[in-house]
Amino acid sequence: MTIENKEIDTLIVGAGQAGVAMSEHLSHLDIPHLVLERHRIAERWRTERWDSLVANGPAWHDRFPGLEFDDVDSDGFPSKERIAAYFEDYARKFNAPVHTGVDVLSVERNIGQPGFTIETSEGVIKANRVVAATGPFQRPVIPPIAPEDANLTQLHSSEYRNPEQLPEGAVLVVGAGSSGVQIADELQRSGRNVHLSVGPHHRPPRAYRGRDFCWWLGVLGEWDAEAMAPGTEHVTIAVSGARGGHTVDFRHLARQGVTLVGRTKAFDNGKVSFETDLAENIARGDENYLSLLDAADAYIARNGLDLPQEPEARIIPPSPECITDPLLELDMAEAGIGSIIWATGFAVDYRWLKVNAFDEHGKPQHQRGVSSEPGIYFLGLPWLSRRGSSFIWGVWHDARHIADHIATQRKYLAYQDALQYRTGSADHSGRNNAAYAQSQTQEVRIARED
Ligand SMILES: Cc1cc2nc3c(=O)[nH]c(=O)nc-3n(C[C@H](O)[C@H](O)[C@H](O)COP(=O)(O)OP(=O)(O)OC[C@H]3O[C@@H](n4cnc5c(N)ncnc54)[C@H](O)[C@@H]3O)c2cc1C
Repeated sequence: MTIENKEIDTLIVGAGQAGVAMSEHLSHLDIPHLVLERHRIAERWRTERWDSLVANGPAWHDRFPGLEFDDVDSDGFPSKERIAAYFEDYARKFNAPVHTGVDVLSVERNIGQPGFTIETSEGVIKANRVVAATGPFQRPVIPPIAPEDANLTQLHSSEYRNPEQLPEGAVLVVGAGSSGVQIADELQRSGRNVHLSVGPHHRPPRAYRGRDFCWWLGVLGEWDAEAMAPGTEHVTIAVSGARGGHTVDFRHLARQGVTLVGRTKAFDNGKVSFETDLAENIARGDENYLSLLDAADAYIARNGLDLPQEPEARIIPPSPECITDPLLELDMAEAGIGSIIWATGFAVDYRWLKVNAFDEHGKPQHQRGVSSEPGIYFLGLPWLSRRGSSFIWGVWHDARHIADHIATQRKYLAYQDALQYRTGSADHSGRNNAAYAQSQTQEVRIARED
């Protein structure tokens, strides 16, 4: 089906989990919409992540309310392919109007009439509203310190697939959030020498007293936190569902053979230098880990729950030498390092969205996804409304809020005063069409009954 010259109430750009959730809520409210996806549904899970990746949260948790992973143990961790298939099944379940292989090239506000003109790879369309569901992690970020050295293979974590992809030799992995630790672990297990550059992080226990950390963050209200705690803006979270799920423990990784180093500072003349912050980063990570155990114990006591004791979870083993006497400089040739994996995060890319919805630093300006440009919405961004916003289950709730906002706006626009109603004159959106107003009212009525 062609989309050229189409006019639609709401356009959703992107069919990852955010776009699919948004489409479900708009469908539920009978709001006409279209989802345009440049590749395939859930593409990032298919082709922009490493081969062995599984969900970081268990199957019972990392899903939408309307569908379970019927072939995965509910405490297990679905593979990335299974997650992509899940979102495809989900979209099929309610017949989401997704058009794949369509790139949205630009969105501009119409002048003198409502809505937006959207240029796509399949022609121009018009929409009253646009939801940007293009993901929290659109553009790989590699810091400017990256060396220009033709003899080194350098990949961002989004390009890393498996150990065989890298040339022979040792590897430096920069960044120890969930991606960096999992990649370093996999490379070390495949027989490589690995240096892992560790910055400030949180490392919740995979499970404590019989409950996964996703459960603990839920009951302790942490998924619902509305803003990052001051000073934690650059703190990453290190969790893993790999090999059945385990607590990320840097001392354990070091015992296994990974050499831990502090934050990567600079590259100069074949040498790489590291900050002196390793021990402090590890200590802060431990503090965060132990504070979750404390909060969990207090919750159990307060609610009189009968969950098994787990005193051994509090034992922090002595630090290995790479932490107590850390490397501050390394000659890469001597260490045999042939590759660097930059697990240094992502940025957003809204160059296609040419509207007034950004602050002076180019950051989306919004309140719970409702942007400063009327009719433009953001979905899926980290901390859009809460800590859970960029995760699978969280985006579903944010999408519901945005859908409700759109339904309410449509209700206002469908309003006619007594004179307009009698004469069928133009409404303030410029449409001289009583039937249009009537159809809007009808849709709003359906929405209210739901
Ligand atoms: C390595 C990794 C592991 C993760 N693991 C988990 C996990 O276990 N559990 C969890 O809850 N979360 C996890 N996340 C976080 C989050 O769930 C994912 O990042 C998820 O992919 C975000 O979904 P999204 O729909 O917001 O964005 P995306 O998945 O990025 O989807 C956006 C879509 O928009 C499309 N698009 C972009 N621009 C355009 C355009 N101009 N025109 C048309 N289409 C466009 C893209 O092709 C893409 O398909 C993980 C993230 C990463 C990076």
